[in-house]
Amino acid sequence: MLILENISIKKFTTFKIGGRVKYFITITTLKEVEELIDFLSKKETKFFILGGGSNILFTDEYYNGVVIKPKFETFNFFQNGEVVLGANKLMSEVVYESCRLGYQGLEWAGGLPGELGGAIRGNAGCFGSEIKDIVQEVLAVNLLTKELKKFSNEECQFAYRHSFFKKNPEWLIVETKLILNPGSNSESLLKIMNEKINYRKDKHPLEFPNVGSIFKNLNIEEVNFELKKLAEKNKVIKGNKIPTAFVIEFLGLKGKQIGGAKISEKHANFIVNVNNAKAQDVLDLIKFIKEKVKEEFNLDLKEEIEIIS
Ligand SMILES: Cc1cc2nc3c(=O)[nH]c(=O)nc-3n(C[C@H](O)[C@H](O)[C@H](O)COP(=O)(O)OP(=O)(O)OC[C@H]3O[C@@H](n4cnc5c(N)ncnc54)[C@H](O)[C@@H]3O)c2cc1C
Repeated sequence: MLILENISIKKFTTFKIGGRVKYFITITTLKEVEELIDFLSKKETKFFILGGGSNILFTDEYYNGVVIKPKFETFNFFQNGEVVLGANKLMSEVVYESCRLGYQGLEWAGGLPGELGGAIRGNAGCFGSEIKDIVQEVLAVNLLTKELKKFSNEECQFAYRHSFFKKNPEWLIVETKLILNPGSNSESLLKIMNEKINYRKDKHPLEFPNVGSIFKNLNIEEVNFELKKLAEKNKVIKGNKIPTAFVIEFLGLKGKQIGGAKISEKHANFIVNVNNAKAQDVLDLIKFIKEKVKEEFNLDLKEEIEIIS
């Protein structure tokens, strides 16, 4: 277990934003998890589990707690389609390797940033697929009680950008068993993966630090008649969702900048760090967008990203 003290969290997040943290602890084995749990109970301190840092915003203030950086990197592809992976495998690597080895089922996630554990916790998804569709089992440990438990897909309680682990942040995801279709054509899987990567390069402002979509998309059942009509007219409804980017763009908010943070010109649900943004700049922009949307459509936007203070 490696303990660092008083370090800047910036470089561990894709936003490149955030203040200093009291403890930054790296763990690589279940034995070290036990040491960590003892450390946490002795210090009686709050903690946060860090994955790839691609869906979070640390505030500028000192984080008076422990940031836990697990490094579980198991990597096993079985002939029956079961794939056992450490929670800290990068999604880019997981997707590439499954396509290369001819395991179908993950190519939709080409270009999805972050780690597998983060994707499970938030039930990451895109292009009509979600990670929940291929999860068979999740091994996790409770950082308060030391309980080690295997969760079935059902027990993970997956929903739109949601899971059991989101509601219960004391559970550290260690390993996941996915179920994929082996024996597929590797070349065509890699082709689909690359199409997704290129789509993202084209549509997302990857030239600036960002954390993906700031707000969740809108459930069509929850918006007012006026917005529903507008979305229908503009043919932007996907399944039962209206993209929040559409609403922000409709209100003419693209390009609005506060300090070093800006609503992306390329994708209105992205805030980009264009010039050493402070977390406060981003929070002010979030507040600004929420107020405008509330004013116009009487709607409360919900953050997809997690704000940590
Ligand atoms: C350019 C860009 C595009 C994106 N596109 C998409 C998209 O299409 N679809 C989508 O769903 N998301 C998207 N995202 C958001 C983000 O990539 C995903 O949510 C990703 O799955 C987060 O994983 P992470 O490892 O970076 O998690 P982090 O940001 O590090 O953490 C997110 C949450 O997961 C928890 N967590 C992380 N690891 C563990 C673990 N091992 N055990 C328990 N909890 C853990 C953290 O505590 C935190 O609460 C995008 C982000 C960017 C920057």
